[in-house]
Amino acid sequence: MAPTQPATADTISRWDQHGRRHDVHLRRHGVHRTLDCATCGWRTSARLLPRAKAEQHLAGAHQATIDPGGPRRGAPHTPS
Ligand SMILES: [Zn+2]
Repeated sequence: MAPTQPATADTISRWDQHGRRHDVHLRRHGVHRTLDCATCGWRTSARLLPRAKAEQHLAGAHQATIDPGGPRRGAPHTPS
């Protein structure tokens, strides 16, 4: 959980074992969050834990479980 995360639009990206990237776009509509998968067109809305839902879809539908930012998780780091 990053304390300074932009709260507007977001994209959850995961890579599958074939090296393909899958993106789920997260948009806010009032209290609702709409999830929109760029790979297969899957859409849903979630009020709670939208990122977890996106990750579940990516893992279940696309076997995409590799987090490109994984190693840097919890350690904000800006290369300069
Ligand atoms: Zn999908």
